[in-house]
Amino acid sequence: MEKLFACTKKLGINLNSEQLEQFSAYYAELIDWNRRFNLTAITGFEEVQIKHFCDSLSAVLAFKSPDTTQPLRIIDVGTGAGFPGVPLKILLPGISLTLLESTTKKAAFLQHLQEMLGLRGVEIVTGRAEEAAHEERYREKFDVVLSRAVAPLPSLVELCLPFCSVGGRFIAQKKGDISSEIDRAAKAIKLMGGALSEIKKIDLEEFPDERCLVVIEKVSPTPANYPRRPGMAVKRPLV
Ligand code: SAH
Repeated sequence: MEKLFACTKKLGINLNSEQLEQFSAYYAELIDWNRRFNLTAITGFEEVQIKHFCDSLSAVLAFKSPDTTQPLRIIDVGTGAGFPGVPLKILLPGISLTLLESTTKKAAFLQHLQEMLGLRGVEIVTGRAEEAAHEERYREKFDVVLSRAVAPLPSLVELCLPFCSVGGRFIAQKKGDISSEIDRAAKAIKLMGGALSEIKKIDLEEFPDERCLVVIEKVSPTPANYPRRPGMAVKRPLV
């Protein structure tokens, strides 16, 4: 995990040997399961360390300084094979993490991974954001909502902001030029009770494709009718 160690170090993140071993085990499981199920197209040893592990960990740069009295409640919406949620759990074992994924096979991998890595304080939810966000136990219950590579920002905001408690934040991991995507998301952000706070660039030579964290604060509750029924946020984004 030398690439991962070097790359995260540049971001000011110091992984210890126990954490590096967990990442090594994560890689082995990912590759093993990927032979049977399509979990990821990125499989090279160095590529996974950079494009999956280090990229996931970079989200921590948009976290507020932690309140040490309460574990941070985090949800990763559309986590797939666990990105960015699982790397962040390895980095910050004290967080309370919910992994939401609609594909049963991916959720089965996450269950296995959780046992393999001995992670505590992780809940795996198989389901769609459009439905989970209307459940009392998930609605406006999280300090941090994360999502990577799930949908364009106008749709993503409708799927993610309902999970965020007022005072919490939604962090979307994006790449490339996203200025027009952000402009198009303005209406959805406002409707969902959000306010755009920051676009944080992740400036590393390992990422030539302009990665950034779009940080949206939750300033008021999301109206009860959002998100709309499954598929609507993507089919008919609130632009
Ligand atoms: N976040 C991961 C996976 C990205 S692929 C990564 O960055 O590698 C997008 C994932 O989101 C897929 O696994 C898909 O099943 C899931 N997904 C898409 N729409 C969803 C929804 N509405 N609710 C829950 N999961 C969803």
